[in-house]
Amino acid sequence: MAKLYFNYSSMNAGKSTVLLQASYNYLERGMNTLLLIAAFDERAGRGRIASRIGLAADADIFHAKDDLFGHIERANANAPLHAVFVDEAQFLTEDQVWQLAKVADRIKIPVMCYGLRTDFQGKLFPGSAALLALADNLKEIKTICWCGRKATMVARLDAEGRFVEEGDQVVIGGEEAYVSLCRHHWTMRALRGEQAERPGQARSSSAA
Ligand SMILES: [Zn+2]
Repeated sequence: MAKLYFNYSSMNAGKSTVLLQASYNYLERGMNTLLLIAAFDERAGRGRIASRIGLAADADIFHAKDDLFGHIERANANAPLHAVFVDEAQFLTEDQVWQLAKVADRIKIPVMCYGLRTDFQGKLFPGSAALLALADNLKEIKTICWCGRKATMVARLDAEGRFVEEGDQVVIGGEEAYVSLCRHHWTMRALRGEQAERPGQARSSSAA
């Protein structure tokens, strides 16, 4: 039985690396995969999934209005698919998560989604909420806070490295940086031990 998977994490945990490796494992065995990535803006056409350690692959871009069941059904009619991978899955709509569930259930293609669990205010993204509710299989991709504990929270920092407390869930083309922290240090607004009161020190650890 094909399943719907949600692999979730905070920022900079290596989600895209894991996705690209998993897709490669299919390709290496002569199987065919479809890669999808959420649009950050209105551009259409081909996108690219790139990991921080240098791996990259072309992907189809999807927007909130797109019917992913139809998209995948057409792609599968063209060349039979063995798996579908979705990056930035936190930006899926609830409807699209249902569409992906239908892909697993009716076309019998496994769908692997990778995304952030929560935003910089500790709130679920819509796509992540739907995936947590509907996915057959949930898996956490772990990364660590500067203190060594598991980082489950994401902080948004402004250009000066200060915590951003309010704002839109998604910012396009801004000066912001993101850093993953454990819940305790996210709550304390502590970017590192003795330097917690010196916000200008933050950016070196916040590569996107
Ligand atoms: Zn910590």
